[in-house]
Amino acid sequence: MKLHVFGVRGSLPAPSAKNFNTSIYGGNTTCCYLQAGPFRIIFDMGSGARMLGNHLMKKGVIGKNFIFLLTHYHSDHIQGIGFCVPFYIKSNTFFIHGFTPEGRENIDPLRNVVLQALGEQQASPFFPVPHSLLPARKIYNAHNRMFSETFYYLHRNDNYFFISEKDSAETASIERQDLLKITTIPLHHPNGCLGYRIDYGDESFAFCTDNEPLAYPNHQINTICKDVDVIVLDGQYTAEQLSGPTQTYGHGSPELCVDQAIACGAKKLMITHMDPAHDDKNVAPMEVECKTYLAKKKKKTPASVEFAKEGKSWDI
Ligand SMILES: [Zn+2]
Ligand SMILES: [Zn+2]
Repeated sequence: MKLHVFGVRGSLPAPSAKNFNTSIYGGNTTCCYLQAGPFRIIFDMGSGARMLGNHLMKKGVIGKNFIFLLTHYHSDHIQGIGFCVPFYIKSNTFFIHGFTPEGRENIDPLRNVVLQALGEQQASPFFPVPHSLLPARKIYNAHNRMFSETFYYLHRNDNYFFISEKDSAETASIERQDLLKITTIPLHHPNGCLGYRIDYGDESFAFCTDNEPLAYPNHQINTICKDVDVIVLDGQYTAEQLSGPTQTYGHGSPELCVDQAIACGAKKLMITHMDPAHDDKNVAPMEVECKTYLAKKKKKTPASVEFAKEGKSWDI
């Protein structure tokens, strides 16, 4: 698997300025792209989705299938959708996964709650192109935000086919290189949030931002992300900030991320969702302190911790 990072910022984009440099970690909000064998997986489309779209177009990735996993509907995770060029390519297909927001459980058919939630962001007068009119083919799936669900994708001739948990017996006859397993992870965050664990062959990856630290270590993360190769966690605030009013905002600190990664046995840890008020001068010492905190724990796993950096790629 290979992870490409296009946005690391939480809450709001934080462009570099004369006395506020964010060029090392990046200023765009959350967007990551994971290549797992033949599977193209996108995590969130914050403002970084514009760069992801440009990257895919430059590489000639056109007329393809994509699995788009949405953690939640806060604007820093969806604001780039209308600026991501592949959504304007008719021959592309997006399998879009989100969750049913509170109070929308009775909308029928259930899967359309994701379309409805994304449609509100692009409704007039907020955006000139309605979400439903984006030319790419779009297939929506809504999950439960309170309980973990598992589903699969089969790869055939560069097309993907969704397999639900109730049809999981079908996966027994599929070659491992053509099968992707995805497990949702309910997280602690205002308005709800889902993390995702990806399993492809012997490799595994988990993406778990945004997450409230009050319940650390999160037992759902412990169980579902057990022994995962790489886990991405939300370390927006310093421990000092987290002891103040930000405690209820639904985010963690780098040290709590280390504790969480140790608790679930993750082999490597990546930290993301940097505060828009933190420039590189603030974030770099947080990364150094976090590495020292991990070293003092003297644990075999995680073997390393690193802060996500926009424009960088990681082999998993
Ligand atoms: Zn966020
Ligand atoms: Zn959020």
